[in-house]
Amino acid sequence: MPLRRKVAYIDLLSRDVVIKDIPREIRERYLGGRGLNMYLLRAHKTAGMDPFDPGNPLIVGAGLLTGLCGSRLNVSGKSPESGYLGDSNVGGYFGAELAQTGYSHLVITGKSEQPVYFSIENEKIFFRDASHLWGKMTGDTQELIRKELHDEKTRVLCIGPAGERLVRFACLITGIKNAAGRTGLGALMGSKNLKAIAVRGTKGFSVKQPKEYLALLRDTNKKAADTLWGKALGRYGTPLLFKYANFMGFTSYKYHQLTSVGDAGDDLYAENLEKNYSNGMVSCFGCPIHCRHRYKVAEGPFKGIRGEGPEYASVTSFGPTLGNLNLASTIYLSELCNKYGIDTISGGNYLGYFFTLYEKGIISKDDVGYELTWGDHDAIERFLMDTVYRRNMGDCVAEGSLAIKKLKPEAKQYLLAIKNVSIEQTDERPAKALAFGLGVATRGTCHMRSRPSVDVVGYPRDLLKDFYGGDVGKDFRDYTGKERMVWWHEIFNAVADSVGICRFAGVFSSINAIGYLDIGKLLRTAIGLDLSDKELMTIGERIYTTERLFLVDEGISRKDDHLPELYYRVPVPEGPSKGEYIDRVKYERMLDDYYVLHGWNKEGIPDKETLAELRIGEGTDEGTDENNGG
Ligand code: SF4
Repeated sequence: MPLRRKVAYIDLLSRDVVIKDIPREIRERYLGGRGLNMYLLRAHKTAGMDPFDPGNPLIVGAGLLTGLCGSRLNVSGKSPESGYLGDSNVGGYFGAELAQTGYSHLVITGKSEQPVYFSIENEKIFFRDASHLWGKMTGDTQELIRKELHDEKTRVLCIGPAGERLVRFACLITGIKNAAGRTGLGALMGSKNLKAIAVRGTKGFSVKQPKEYLALLRDTNKKAADTLWGKALGRYGTPLLFKYANFMGFTSYKYHQLTSVGDAGDDLYAENLEKNYSNGMVSCFGCPIHCRHRYKVAEGPFKGIRGEGPEYASVTSFGPTLGNLNLASTIYLSELCNKYGIDTISGGNYLGYFFTLYEKGIISKDDVGYELTWGDHDAIERFLMDTVYRRNMGDCVAEGSLAIKKLKPEAKQYLLAIKNVSIEQTDERPAKALAFGLGVATRGTCHMRSRPSVDVVGYPRDLLKDFYGGDVGKDFRDYTGKERMVWWHEIFNAVADSVGICRFAGVFSSINAIGYLDIGKLLRTAIGLDLSDKELMTIGERIYTTERLFLVDEGISRKDDHLPELYYRVPVPEGPSKGEYIDRVKYERMLDDYYVLHGWNKEGIPDKETLAELRIGEGTDEGTDENNGG
């Protein structure tokens, strides 16, 4: 029964393992996955701590229904990239396998003296030497571990050479390309000398109302896969978004110099990916949408490359952001990121920042060792590999936003980051809700924390008012009620991540996808947890406010909930979104209203009454100790 899954506290230095139950009261307040991760993270009191301090926990948490419906999992900790909140959601098969071991959460602290990995075989945990795996790429690491454990069904979550070298935007990978990508948690794992976690579970699940649950799951899956968005994803994958972004002027060309490349971007369209490279679509465990291409590049300079994906964010971060409009090149560069364990979004965008510094004459060929010319595949690949291995100027890139401490003072003005997390591959100056969502996201620049894109679809205003419970402008350029949209999606996504529902299956671009009522029914029939839509919204608010408290403990407040100056000061110079920028006065007004919706004060600090209402700070996560060893 998912409600009985436990948390394992694992100390990599002493090799102590302590197993605890998760009290039902805490489950009812935080669910699982991201929600429970946040509860556990905040309990570690990391305020002021260096992210590479062995006391900074790496927390791995499966959603409450992970394994029963999908395989989503959150990885959390204090972020090496930002120094603030680190959190990343990943699919694949690892989460579902972990859930079958009897654990839903792992809290990993300490630093091993030698490279290590641990395997979980049902509830037993075994520490294993990883010296021979150090330096290996992510795919090879997973294969070698499966061979070593003599079990093809073992699932592995691991880091590549970038995480080992503490590249601050290194990711964790499971399978070919499922990445816990944002906020640099691969570097946190590397700082602990932890190469991988292997899981194999055969415990199965008991379900409260099996017949009803199966029927409901079938209907819910159909609902998610049958939206226009679900169908399009199942055919083209997320790269389908590039055509729209290019057409509307939402993309970033040469690190946000322009927002569209017009017809020059044709090669990057998803139709081309489907026609020339894809061998069909694959999915994460239990997902009906199948949003990932299995591809092969059959000819040209990148001949022989095989893999999964690439995602829209990867194509565009290593494509237009770097002046590169060659699809095969972006496929190849995304694959390199997966193998070496680099977050493609921060990776492409930090390279874009350094290309900009080169163009402005702030760094030179002498610093880099070669020329940085926009769109030059060889230069991009070389610079990426220098970053992975921290060679020459790559050592500076590997510091992410913190690189400005090592650069000339004039370099600072060109860095585009929010709360120290790199700006992304889209330019949201035209889309006010999306821009606001980036500015206030708890993990720093992040389009997925809220992803308020329903207004891009063009629903009637009355429908939006009913849906969001307040007036929301129909046009994505309109500021009206966009803070309400962001707030609504922030708390919904906090619930979905805690239950284990993929962002693409939940309410996102379509209001017809999986929502609170569906989640309530799934929880009721699967595990007998009876939560109304209002109660689920309160849980979402509790999780989001807990994240905010983590930031407040680090000194974050209203002053940090802002976009890069470019968004306010530089209207888009040309193309379909020409003239668009963010009006600072209107943005400040949105902030005022947004804080009220969350129950935070004018500085963005949660009110005492809000904390009391949400019952934050009550109760305990202490369960029954039970040493497991191994
Ligand atoms: S929609 Fe795509 S990313 Fe989400 S669970 Fe399904 S296959 Fe995985």
